[in-house]
Amino acid sequence: MKVLQVSAEIFPLLKTGGLADIAGALPAALNAAGCEVRVLLPGFAPIMGDLQSDSVLAELTAPWGERVLLRQGLLRTLGIRAYVIDVPHLYARPGTPYEDEQRQPHHDNHLRFALLGWVAAQLACGLDDQWQPAVVHSHDWHAALTSAYLAFGPARGRRVASVYTVHNLAYQGVFAPIHFYDLGLPSHAFSVNGVEFHGQMSFMKAGLYYADHITTVSPTYAHEIQTPAQGCGLDGLLRARANDLTGILNAVDTTVWSPAIDAAIPHTFDANNPAGKARCKAALQQTLGLAQQADAPLFGVVSRLTEQKGLHLVLAVLDALIERGGQLVVLGTGDAALESAFKARAAANPHAVSVRIGYDEGYAHQIFGASDVTLVPSRFEPCGLTQMYGLKYGSLPLVHRVGGLADTVVDSALEHLADGTANGFVFNDFTMQSLERAISRALALYARTDEWQAVRRRGMLQPLGWDKAAAQYVALYRHLVT
Ligand code: ADP
Repeated sequence: MKVLQVSAEIFPLLKTGGLADIAGALPAALNAAGCEVRVLLPGFAPIMGDLQSDSVLAELTAPWGERVLLRQGLLRTLGIRAYVIDVPHLYARPGTPYEDEQRQPHHDNHLRFALLGWVAAQLACGLDDQWQPAVVHSHDWHAALTSAYLAFGPARGRRVASVYTVHNLAYQGVFAPIHFYDLGLPSHAFSVNGVEFHGQMSFMKAGLYYADHITTVSPTYAHEIQTPAQGCGLDGLLRARANDLTGILNAVDTTVWSPAIDAAIPHTFDANNPAGKARCKAALQQTLGLAQQADAPLFGVVSRLTEQKGLHLVLAVLDALIERGGQLVVLGTGDAALESAFKARAAANPHAVSVRIGYDEGYAHQIFGASDVTLVPSRFEPCGLTQMYGLKYGSLPLVHRVGGLADTVVDSALEHLADGTANGFVFNDFTMQSLERAISRALALYARTDEWQAVRRRGMLQPLGWDKAAAQYVALYRHLVT
């Protein structure tokens, strides 16, 4: 089955978060499950730079009159066929794919990402006469207009199924209504039964409303987003579409995240030969100037520093953690207030706390490799990947019971230690007291070395690969096209 995957990011070429990891891993996983996947991407510089043996498939005119080159070729790093939208003045810019260097959204994001959806719909409608997808699978608000354009485009009546995956409902791509008229959608699409959202235009809503099927990245999040508390104003629509909504748990790309073969960590290790992990920890403690204590429990955070991630709770419990002999390593970037609060704590406790502000893929691997506990106290978390990376690297996840964190981590309560399901620590209430109790459980288990190592070993051996999720996506595609 031919599947066109549409996303704004793809690991390892362009990544701002978990979306890229998924977009990078899914094509190979789906191909292994019998699909033939091609990807459509905006022509950001790292993507253009990786596109090999490319040729121009088509010269198009966007609905607002812009000339567009659509290239096709091979993404060398990933080894997959790609279509790339080559419009330098839209995509070749400094900053992130979404924001300028002052962290402000690009003024024309509605056009930059409408174009992604519009081109996807053209490909679904037979633009490439050598390759006709049966399924168009788009990811997050950046690609969400795909299904709206498909609903009104010439593909109507043709069996091209559209799947839309929500990676985070909180980022919606909402724009002033005036911009709707640039996009070439019929005027009746700007209604409550369409892309209108409280008088604004919402790309996310377009995806949720027009896609044949919606998926999100964990079963628990699929339920949570149907509630007013987590529905971000779209819970009503999601409840109405409950029969077309599935939670498929993300997975780990073990070609990238395996401590046995990881070139980014100083010493490799695995569940049967864990000695390298202690050496990774000693090396990191030394490099960072932390106290060189093998038995100091080392907590790690690799995260966007945003309100979502619950890191103010970590700040609230940090003194208690240090008093009890713990150490903390943070890698993250985001809100200025959180950045400076963490930096101040590191300056005040240089032998127990290290904070690096920035984005560093290799250093993230080193933190998972060295740490004993991966902290993920998110207020909400669609799936979360770092708790799974923690499991793979023997860094037991300590998480808030929400979204995909609830689906992947089992608390080391006595009954779970006894039945062999424990793989980390889970707190129920989003409060510092609840987090503190979970940290106490972690420290208590850490002090019982044999039990700690048994739980760690089990976590490292847990199958977290993509095969299960890929089979679920393929079953869904089959269901939609028959
Ligand atoms: P989200 O997509 O909400 O940011 P996820 O847990 O799903 O959260 O995915 C985050 C991804 O980004 C992981 O691969 C994590 O390792 C990575 N990451 C987050 N912050 C950084 C950082 N500062 N440096 C390197 N990698 C990071």
